[in-house]
Amino acid sequence: MASNYVTAICLVLFLTSSCYIESDNMTKTIKSKMQAYRVELPCEAEGCDGMMVFTSGGVLTSFPAQYPHRCSECGRQIYVSGMTYPTIEWSP
Ligand SMILES: [Zn+2]
Repeated sequence: MASNYVTAICLVLFLTSSCYIESDNMTKTIKSKMQAYRVELPCEAEGCDGMMVFTSGGVLTSFPAQYPHRCSECGRQIYVSGMTYPTIEWSP
């Protein structure tokens, strides 16, 4: 029974891995440079120059979900939806 399960798992792994091994020598690829931007969320507390940093735990399950961020300087905590900071954005 267990060996059937292992055999099935191996078969699935083989089939999925073979999808990535296939290559077409006629495929052309294009490389172009992109610029990376660090996106940060500044703290809005008066007189604070800190940046909000994503912290783990305590996600609010609202819709959309809100993620906890804490200021790197004053420790103020806020919840942000849609994005976590800091993050990286790419632009051509
Ligand atoms: Zn702050």
